[in-house]
Amino acid sequence: MSSNIVVAIDGYSSCGKSTLAKALAKKLHFIYVDSGAMYRAVALYFLRNNIDMHNHDQIAEALKNIHLNFHSRDYQTHITLNDEEVSDEIRQMPVSDKVSAVAAIHEVRVEMVRQQQRMGKSKNIVMDGRDIGTVVFPHAQIKLFMTADPKIRAERRYKELLPTNPTMTLEEVFENLAHRDYADTTRKESPLTRADDAIILDNTDLTPDEQLQFALDWVEPLLV
Ligand code: C5P
Repeated sequence: MSSNIVVAIDGYSSCGKSTLAKALAKKLHFIYVDSGAMYRAVALYFLRNNIDMHNHDQIAEALKNIHLNFHSRDYQTHITLNDEEVSDEIRQMPVSDKVSAVAAIHEVRVEMVRQQQRMGKSKNIVMDGRDIGTVVFPHAQIKLFMTADPKIRAERRYKELLPTNPTMTLEEVFENLAHRDYADTTRKESPLTRADDAIILDNTDLTPDEQLQFALDWVEPLLV
């Protein structure tokens, strides 16, 4: 079996990219990397330290002081920011509201892409995000581009977040997704777009198992 298969999964916010990526990685014993968690952790650092997003010196200094690490436990994303576990905090609304602006900063993207490419070197990996098939791994053997009805996406995300965010409303979640989709697709730097060779997966009416089977049908022939 080849030892460097990359499955790149891109798509809109809350399309179930990470659910599929985790299931696929688990089934195939590949490494899973949630690239969005990295941008979220950087956004959290920027928020906590009041980094001015227009001050290039401050941004460069901040990036030098940010150390991110993934710890995989049963394919759940556990990410540390300077040795502090921040996996829950990066999913809260203050970070979700800020992350797309932080992810649009050139220096931030250069550093994150460098780290992501290093993680994929000589390994079998599933990585999900917005620019994985276009920028991070343009030569990935399999590229999936996920999409789903925006209302369904907001409802799924709302249900997922409600236990830890009891005051949040469905409208807030819908607005946040719409805002991030707009920011991510229209930004100058590595906008979210489907790579020409990416396979479209619209999961509006698909169960997680059906999505996994769809992806396996593409990946498994590479493993023989
Ligand atoms: O995947 P998730 O929704 O957690 O990503 C949070 C944000 O991080 C996205 O809305 C996007 O602004 C940014 N992102 C990105 N490039 C990636 C992954 C995430 O710009 N590869």
